[in-house]
Amino acid sequence: MTKASHEQPPTNADLQPNGDEESESKNASVINVSILSQEIISDDDIDTPDEDVDTSIAVEHTSAKELSAPTIPDEQNSLLRSMDMDTDMPRHGTQDTAINIGGAEQLSSVQPEDLVGMIRYAEKNILLLNQARVRALDDVEKILTEKEKLQGEINVLEMRLAETDARIQVAAQEKIRVELLEDKLEKLRNEFAHRGGTESNELDMYENEKLLSREVSIVHNNRFYSVTKELSSLREENSSLKNDIQALKAELSDVKNTDERVLMLETQRSLLESSLKDLESKLSDSQEDVSKLSSLKVEYKHLWEKVENFQELLDKATKPADQAIIVLQQNQELRKKVDKLEESLGEANVYKLSSEKLQQYNELMQQKIKLLEDRLQKSDEEIHSYVQLYQESVKEFQETLNNLKEESKKRALDEPVDDMPWEFWSRVLLIIDGWLLEKKISTNDAKLLRDMVWKKDGQIRDAYIACKEKNEREAVTTFLRLISSPTSPGLYVIHIAAEMAPVAKVGGLGDVVAGLGKALQKRGHLVEIILPKYDCMQYDHIRDLRVLDVLVESYFDGQLFKNKIWVGTVEGLPVYFIEPHHPDKFFWRGQFYGERDDFKRFSFFSRAALELLLQAGKKPDIIHCHDWQTAFVAPLYWDLYAPKGLNSARICFTCHNFEYQGTAPAAELASCGLDVHQLNRPDRMQDNSAHDRVNPVKGGVVFSNIVTTVSPTYAQEVRTAEGGKGLHSTLNFHSKKFVGILNGIDTDAWNPATDTFLKVQYTANDLQGKAENKEAMRRHLRLSSADVRKPLLGCITRLVPQKGVHLIRHAIYRTLELGGQFVLLGSSPVPHIQREFEGIANHFQNHDDIRLILKYDESLSHSIYAASDMFIIPSIFEPCGLTQLIAMRYGSVPIVRKTGGLNDSVFDIDDDTIPLQFRNGFTFLTPDEQGVNNALERAFNLYMNNPENWQQLVQDVMNIDFSWELSAAHYEELYSKSAARARAVARS
Ligand code: ADP
Repeated sequence: MTKASHEQPPTNADLQPNGDEESESKNASVINVSILSQEIISDDDIDTPDEDVDTSIAVEHTSAKELSAPTIPDEQNSLLRSMDMDTDMPRHGTQDTAINIGGAEQLSSVQPEDLVGMIRYAEKNILLLNQARVRALDDVEKILTEKEKLQGEINVLEMRLAETDARIQVAAQEKIRVELLEDKLEKLRNEFAHRGGTESNELDMYENEKLLSREVSIVHNNRFYSVTKELSSLREENSSLKNDIQALKAELSDVKNTDERVLMLETQRSLLESSLKDLESKLSDSQEDVSKLSSLKVEYKHLWEKVENFQELLDKATKPADQAIIVLQQNQELRKKVDKLEESLGEANVYKLSSEKLQQYNELMQQKIKLLEDRLQKSDEEIHSYVQLYQESVKEFQETLNNLKEESKKRALDEPVDDMPWEFWSRVLLIIDGWLLEKKISTNDAKLLRDMVWKKDGQIRDAYIACKEKNEREAVTTFLRLISSPTSPGLYVIHIAAEMAPVAKVGGLGDVVAGLGKALQKRGHLVEIILPKYDCMQYDHIRDLRVLDVLVESYFDGQLFKNKIWVGTVEGLPVYFIEPHHPDKFFWRGQFYGERDDFKRFSFFSRAALELLLQAGKKPDIIHCHDWQTAFVAPLYWDLYAPKGLNSARICFTCHNFEYQGTAPAAELASCGLDVHQLNRPDRMQDNSAHDRVNPVKGGVVFSNIVTTVSPTYAQEVRTAEGGKGLHSTLNFHSKKFVGILNGIDTDAWNPATDTFLKVQYTANDLQGKAENKEAMRRHLRLSSADVRKPLLGCITRLVPQKGVHLIRHAIYRTLELGGQFVLLGSSPVPHIQREFEGIANHFQNHDDIRLILKYDESLSHSIYAASDMFIIPSIFEPCGLTQLIAMRYGSVPIVRKTGGLNDSVFDIDDDTIPLQFRNGFTFLTPDEQGVNNALERAFNLYMNNPENWQQLVQDVMNIDFSWELSAAHYEELYSKSAARARAVARS
């Protein structure tokens, strides 16, 4: 029954979702409200008769093409769009807005013909909507009747279902009765068997039983057969009834759906009715407006004429008024001028009075000054006489001192020390020769010392006795001091650099400038440093900082710029700070490097430094420049300043890291006055890989007399294509003047016995202090102190690829696995590395055993060196590396990759090819995780399983001398030879 109605085709062809164009044009175009229905009703429902209902609400209207006014289609569309959309309130809002476009305020812009069109169109729509409404009501009624019919059928079926249920119950009762009879039969059988009895009895019994069982079986069979039959027929009926019920339920749900749709249609209908009403009211409004509009037009015309008349009158009236305003303004200005003149007249009178007073006061002051000058002259004379007296007594004292010295010298020379046996002198001679062969002292020094031994100089004996308790390094230093006679003038060395510890330190360069400078000064040389005056310096480390009363002008970009010169002492060294008066504020940037105009900043500084030397009339023996930032000094010196008269010096250039070469487009070289054309050549400053760029480091190598780098192994590595960063061919070409000298460290600044940054100071002989520092550091960084013996691994570094950041990361995790603690202090100029380590730092921020501190912190670095048991440096390449030297000085055993300076300063504990006394740490060659694991595991093994050997190792590394003494002696030798050649050239 229901199936049949499902299969009915749609009755109205017009009402199909895709009505064809012909039918559209026949009935004018059909804008179909059923779009709404399509959205609401699923695709499956399209074939249902319900379509009659929803599609019948189609609204016919005049095609947009037929509308004469261009504005109307839009309005219609928006109206219809809003009708198409949905029936909730906000959409009605849209509908209203759309309709309002035709409202009174808009009417002024709508032509009356358009309005008539609109009205006609609206009327047509009203008619259509009414028809649709009637049809919808019919359909609703039909559906309701069908619903009632279906409900009746359901009721009948439910009654039949109840009947069947009752019959099933009766059948079930019959079945129970049969089962009861069977039980009875069984019982009787059992009774007969039990009684046993006589044969006759048995026979009777047998007969009885047979009778009974026959009877029972007949009853049973008859009953059972009929019940079973009835039961099965009931079952069948039941199942067919169930099917019917199912079908009816489906029908019912369909009907319910239809109900819902009917409801929806009703709401839609009411909506349509309300919009119809709206339209009707709008229509009447518009009709009124149309009549108003024509009367307004007439009114407007009258008004316009009036306005034009007024405008004419106004034009005539404003002219004299303007003139009056101008005259008024002139009058006011004149008034102001008069007032001002009066005021200044008053002031002049006051001044007149006060200047008379001042005159008197001046005279008084002059009298006083005269008096003071007289008194000053008298006291000057007094002071002068005192000074003279003092100078005379100093002179006297100096003379007696010299006499005494001379006498003692003479005595020493005249009286060779005879109290020592020949064996002693021979032993000393052999020691000196040993040092010479091991290259610990120069040939010249060895000759001078041998002369003293030969003369049995008492100073040699005293030095020998004094060195008994010292290590070899210190002994060498003591002996070398004997021959650096205070009477022989030392060298005059000027360092021009971008860094100096501790005032302006970014990395190792700062340490080297301060450490080497101090060591050279100690050896009797005159050392000066020239630095930029950065705004971000540690000013508290500069003593007696003052500005000189002079401005040094230097050339840049075709102009002369003034430079303020500041002086002060840092670590006992005299330092000049240059402050350029350049609009770009070169050193006022809050950081030392990393500015986009670094090439400009430092080429400017290099030239200003040379200008300072020239204008101060200095005659240095050596000008020592460092890294690309001051490498410009070399070409500037030879091209511009030697010809100007600053020609006493030889240039030494030290490259602390060939990774940073400061290349720039060749044209930029011209800013500091260098000749681009002359210098951008393959044999001069042209970069080896980019021919339109200049390379300051290459310029430093080519134009210096001495070129050094910071360790012998690194000097070898940079001569190879893999290590030379593009400069290997240049370095090989200039290899005669190129050497590697291992850096030292400033043993005064890095001394655990005096370090004020530490919680407790300590020495190699008293390591209790080191343990206390470890405990303090753990507390400070919130690391666990539960296990005192847990090894603490330190790492202090710039986090750049050169330092093997991936291996550092690996070491952190491996340390954790091995049961140690790890502290990293470092920061990165590379954003992605900084981010990565921030991630690790956050991950471990509350961990018991791992702490990452991602910043630069001088004081914390001292504490970490002191607290750590081991120190890891897994560098990919390392020109020298200072941290392993500092770590050893603080008793932290280094674990390093064998490269550059690390290879020259750390020797593996298990390397049999190295003499035992030199072995001082753990090394690995291949820069991979396995290499790190191997070295770490061996270190942990020794630490955990052999504490005594570990302590011995700690004491040994603390006693190694990494001071600047030996390295400074090397530099001194290079300087001296170069300066001697310069003097020879000057003489010839
Ligand atoms: P590089 O010059 O390549 O940075 P070096 O080992 O030659 O490396 O010198 C590093 C110097 O900088 C050492 O004195 C070390 O203690 C210091 N240093 C590095 N990073 C930090 C930091 N985050 N905080 C404090 N000092 C640091």
